[in-house]
Amino acid sequence: QEHLLRASFLARLYNTKASLQKEDSTIDGNSFKGHDMLAPFTAGWQSSDLNPLVIEKSEGSYVYDINGKKYLDALAGLWCTALGGNEPRLVAAATEQLNKLPFYHSFWNRTTKPSLDLAKELLETFTASKMAKAFFTNSGSEANDTQVKLVWYYNNALGRPNKKKFIARAKSYHGSTLIAASLSGLPALHQKFDLPAAFVLHTDCPHYWRYHLPGETEEEFSTRLANNLENLILKEGPETIAAFIAEPVMGAGGVIPPPATYFDKIQAVVKKYEILFIADEVICAFGRLGTMYGCDKYNIKPDLVSVAKALSSAYMPIGAVMVSPEVSDVIHSQSSKLGSFSHGFTYSGHPVACAVAIEALKIYKERNILDQVNRIAPKFQDGVKAFADSPIIGEIRGTGLILGTEFVDNKSPNDPFPPEWGVGAYFGAQCEKDGMLVRVAGDNIMMSPPFIMSPEEVDVALEMTNFGASANYKVKV
Ligand code: PLP
Repeated sequence: QEHLLRASFLARLYNTKASLQKEDSTIDGNSFKGHDMLAPFTAGWQSSDLNPLVIEKSEGSYVYDINGKKYLDALAGLWCTALGGNEPRLVAAATEQLNKLPFYHSFWNRTTKPSLDLAKELLETFTASKMAKAFFTNSGSEANDTQVKLVWYYNNALGRPNKKKFIARAKSYHGSTLIAASLSGLPALHQKFDLPAAFVLHTDCPHYWRYHLPGETEEEFSTRLANNLENLILKEGPETIAAFIAEPVMGAGGVIPPPATYFDKIQAVVKKYEILFIADEVICAFGRLGTMYGCDKYNIKPDLVSVAKALSSAYMPIGAVMVSPEVSDVIHSQSSKLGSFSHGFTYSGHPVACAVAIEALKIYKERNILDQVNRIAPKFQDGVKAFADSPIIGEIRGTGLILGTEFVDNKSPNDPFPPEWGVGAYFGAQCEKDGMLVRVAGDNIMMSPPFIMSPEEVDVALEMTNFGASANYKVKV
């Protein structure tokens, strides 16, 4: 009986999904006939057959489409609009800078005041280990590409030409440029792009629920993963491994917080073989986890750090790399010898982006954004996790204002729903229909709302989350 009910529920899911996709839609009153953009992370059939969701306006935790429909932006854009959609101080900072100096570069020891000020401010925010210099990029991907170049430059300067390989983790996401996509451990980013590059190795994804052995505790799981990492290093030769890169909480791979003792054990291995630790804080930094950085939360002491996204609350594209004094000193002397540190972008330290980021950091401090996140996070986490009993939910995981829900059958990571049922896609489409935007990846649903989310907005999110989870199952079947 139970089985039949579930089958009928899932059949309904699938049918509704099909009908959602067939919905006739319009843009500006005209029938949709495809659009001209080669759209990122979008399938060809989607951009030709389906009406894109065109967002026109934002306000607090909400965005509005061109038809005036309102959506709770439960992903904060792409995990980034930390201060929500209409923070006037960020707009004022941008406008003021645009009026004064819309652009000047930072090459050849020429620069601008906002980029110097932001470098100083940013370095002061990072206290988990000492950081000496900040390098500015336009994105998280460029930050991670920069990391690889810096590490190679560093090891070449130290006379270690063979110490060039990078170890990243399965299911990690580090961006989509050539190198950042190579570092990423998501097969879709590699498939048919001739990636990953040969210098990248991938080690285990630290997802306890999915990968632990029967009877294995979280601590034992972490020990096994650290041992696997050490074995990989020994097999490749420690003298060939340059750096290890990790997100404190894995984001796009499904929101995977580290299991207990994981980073302690991994850091011990990395340190033993003189391998640099790169913290990819692109999602975690500036309060998302309830701490200024993910490194603060998990006691990570990195040599290099990547940030982006909430650095400007996404109002302007900007990312950065912070480097330890040791790395910075080597770059300093090497570039002096060579005559230049020949790496940089036209828009490295763009004054408008830097002015906005300075203001964002100021607001985080003035408004005690960490307190705000820590006040709202338990309501959000506990509220969504209350649906964990649903028979179609395997695991709900997260911390602070980041959360992932994974749909499986029989509560088991080994019983995925058939992909053609599109359970995750159905849930995402229903949320969108109801007025909430989430991230869907297979049967994973991810949320990372703006830091400014109010308790009432958490209630709205919970109400909509409820629909596709337990209540829907119970009521509709
Ligand atoms: N690193 C992490 C952890 C990310 O989540 C992302 C983007 O989602 C990136 C890097 C890439 O950043 P961008 O899209 O700004 O290039």
